[in-house]
Amino acid sequence: MKEKGYLFEVEPDSSKSCTYCGQCILHCPGGSFEGEGEFESGEDFKIYKKSKNISFQIAPATRISIGEEFDLPPGTVSTGQLVAGLRKIGISAIYDVSFAADFTTIEEAGEFLEKMENDELPLFTSCCPAWVRFVESYYPEFIGNLTTVRSPQIISGGLIKTLSGRPDKEIVVSVMPCVSKKYEAQREELFLKNGVKPVDHVLTVREVARILKSEGIDISDLEEDDFDEPLGLASRDGINYGMSGGVTEAALRQAANKVGAKLEDEVRNFDEFTCSLNEKKIKTKRISGLKAAAGLLEELKSDPGKYDYVEVMACPGGCIGGGGQPVPSNREIVSKRRMGLSNASKSEVESAFKNKKVEALYGKIKDHDIFHTEYSEKNSSENIFIKNKSLETRWDV
Ligand code: SF4
Ligand code: SF4
Repeated sequence: MKEKGYLFEVEPDSSKSCTYCGQCILHCPGGSFEGEGEFESGEDFKIYKKSKNISFQIAPATRISIGEEFDLPPGTVSTGQLVAGLRKIGISAIYDVSFAADFTTIEEAGEFLEKMENDELPLFTSCCPAWVRFVESYYPEFIGNLTTVRSPQIISGGLIKTLSGRPDKEIVVSVMPCVSKKYEAQREELFLKNGVKPVDHVLTVREVARILKSEGIDISDLEEDDFDEPLGLASRDGINYGMSGGVTEAALRQAANKVGAKLEDEVRNFDEFTCSLNEKKIKTKRISGLKAAAGLLEELKSDPGKYDYVEVMACPGGCIGGGGQPVPSNREIVSKRRMGLSNASKSEVESAFKNKKVEALYGKIKDHDIFHTEYSEKNSSENIFIKNKSLETRWDV
């Protein structure tokens, strides 16, 4: 921590890997942290807006928290108002990242079943970049357990750019509950084959609220608007990715369907869950928070067969408690956001395998490499991203 007059500038310890989870921003009692923002000057954003090739994509857990920035209660479902607000500032193409979550589900369930057949479990989720970086930095012996399937943000950006036919001309901006997603967007392992980034910019919920407010927009005053097609209609399971347990439920339901079984349970509500697939007993574990994740990995070192499928989200409760969410964030607020997300996910389509729009798009994607990647050991010298700002920046909006 460096003193700058009466303010402070904070950077992670360079001898340790920061996972960019952003929890320090949410929980600093003085409110003196903020993540590195994008488009903060406003000028560069005006230039972007003139471009006809800019798309926004909205993560599941932003739709029930953005309202807090406009004095609505935590958990208020504001999906349509957020879309309407972005249209008002001139964004013409606005997509739902939850739609791409259905692709993640399908690919991940396929990988799970393959590993099950080959006796290579446990499989770990990898859609939380802070968790991935934690494994790569502190437990590299488990890198092979991480699913190769890309996160919904990265698949969504890859789909938008690939389907445009001009990937190098498209600009994709994500609205995320997360700070670590900024880091994820910069990871070269996740670029498209032609070296193009699937996602160009990542805004947290706080940042997008600042942009909307700077344009005089209060989303609570707006009529709802719809996402654009073809990445517009997500399944219920895809939207539930925003809460801890959501990925497990989606992937297990998909895997069960693939082997002719049916999963009725709300798996997302259980820390541990056991079911049968192809007569094999499958044990799942969901965890949120990296301290608990470290404990689990230590357990797996001595008992590798304890679980078959492990979901880890770095933030408490999952992305609903993410480091890019409005401040304050506490247990009660996160619980209201969880209820809000369950309400938001009452989609007419229940699961990825029932999403006809996803099925239709699969046929158009020739290169399925856009769904997969690989990971490698990281060290602290690669700390590149978080440079937290001062009270002055944080409270002058
Ligand atoms: S971003 Fe997360 S890992 Fe990095 S310093 Fe903050 S709390 Fe720690
Ligand atoms: S739990 Fe969600 S918000 Fe938190 S770091 Fe992971 S992806 Fe980001």
